[in-house]
Amino acid sequence: LSERLQSALQKLRGKGKVNEADVKAAMREVRLALLEADVNFKVVKEFVSKVSERAVGQEVLKSLTPGQQVIKVVNEELTQLMGGSQAKLSLTSKPSVIMMVGLQGAGKTTTAGKLAHYLRKQNKQPLLVAGDVYRPAAIRQLEVLGEQIDIPVFSMGDQENPVTIAEKGIAHGKEEGHDVVIVDTAGRLHIDETMMDELKAIRQEVSPDEVLLVVDAMTGQDAVNVAENFNREMALTGVVLTKLDGDTRGGAALSVRAVTDCPVKFAGMGEKVDALEPFHPERMASRILGMGDVLTLIEKAQANVDQEKAKDLERKMRTQQFTFDDFLDQMDQVRNMGPLDEILGMMPGAGQMKGLKNLQVDEKQLTKVEAIIRSMTPEEKQHPDIINASRRRRLAAGSGTTVQDVNRLIKQFMDMKKMMKQFSSMTKGKKKKGMGR
Ligand code: GDP
Ligand code: MG
Repeated sequence: LSERLQSALQKLRGKGKVNEADVKAAMREVRLALLEADVNFKVVKEFVSKVSERAVGQEVLKSLTPGQQVIKVVNEELTQLMGGSQAKLSLTSKPSVIMMVGLQGAGKTTTAGKLAHYLRKQNKQPLLVAGDVYRPAAIRQLEVLGEQIDIPVFSMGDQENPVTIAEKGIAHGKEEGHDVVIVDTAGRLHIDETMMDELKAIRQEVSPDEVLLVVDAMTGQDAVNVAENFNREMALTGVVLTKLDGDTRGGAALSVRAVTDCPVKFAGMGEKVDALEPFHPERMASRILGMGDVLTLIEKAQANVDQEKAKDLERKMRTQQFTFDDFLDQMDQVRNMGPLDEILGMMPGAGQMKGLKNLQVDEKQLTKVEAIIRSMTPEEKQHPDIINASRRRRLAAGSGTTVQDVNRLIKQFMDMKKMMKQFSSMTKGKKKKGMGR
């Protein structure tokens, strides 16, 4: 889905002007991309009409190109589609009870363990209750999981009634001072009445704070149908989408909220116990659009870069008056935006860039650079040409670095100046031809 959406929107990105026909053409492709990703067709229809309406009527922001503005609208509507903001667990009773429901193989037992692990990190004391008495070895599976993450598991074997097990489990949890009790239940391969009746009986008896439906995201619209059915019968409080790590299409993630009106609260991202994430619609939307958090980045940049200073800098670049003082200033501005590797992570396309993951931006290196520049005299900062060998030795000693570090920095600075010279003559050329902004 990401690729198709990206290519659909690529044509708009960076366009100086966007007219209605451009938007229409892009929306046609967006529509196809969504349908191909197995997003519910009603959801697609409504989504496309909303985006088109907003995009065509959109007043163009000065700071962004109109193409980006359309992408921003798509991003916002995708976020909205998935519920807008993060839906958190609501745990109020003591102990709070979370009931896991869903079809067989969806990931209930695994998610129960992950959730216990997640909650303990939030300083809770969870208890797991083994309520699946049908699937062979289901109890054992939960017990093994509990051992692995060091969380107690309450079980009564497979001869008891699940309602009784849930009740006793909660009572046990209360006695032992647990503040959250997570009840695992049995699923079937398909929705059937016996299963629903049993789950309803448990729900009735223990009135859980949360009834979480676990669905397999890889099953696409089937997952959405399952959610619709369960929600009708059980009044769910939330959905957990598992196996998102293997879901390349995203159809379930995009439609389940819109179709059922039930919020997605967590996403399963793998088989390991820590592979559970709170579901963030805005992050998911950005991920789907494959643009990192590019809009956050733009906003951050706008908020942090002092416009006056930026203009000043541009003038200096053009007139070749760029000094080490400006260099330092610029470094500060970049730093104000946040840690460099975080910024890089937000760059569009950075996701596809191979090797970027291993690229660690060396903050230490930056600190060195800063120390060296701060050791310079005002004259040295203004006229780097005068920094001879003895001055370099002094700078190294004064900044706690080596002469090699100083040499490298000065060379970088000179190279940068040279580059700016070429760059500014290039942009001048463009401006003449009317290609500049
Ligand atoms: P249950 O029948 O609903 O209790 O499902 P299980 O918890 O036994 O999980 C079924 C299978 O799905 C197991 O092999 C799990 O390891 C796997 N599984 C569960 N959640 C995830 C997930 O988020 N990602 C991946 N890749 N596998 C998962
Ligand atoms: Mg299970």
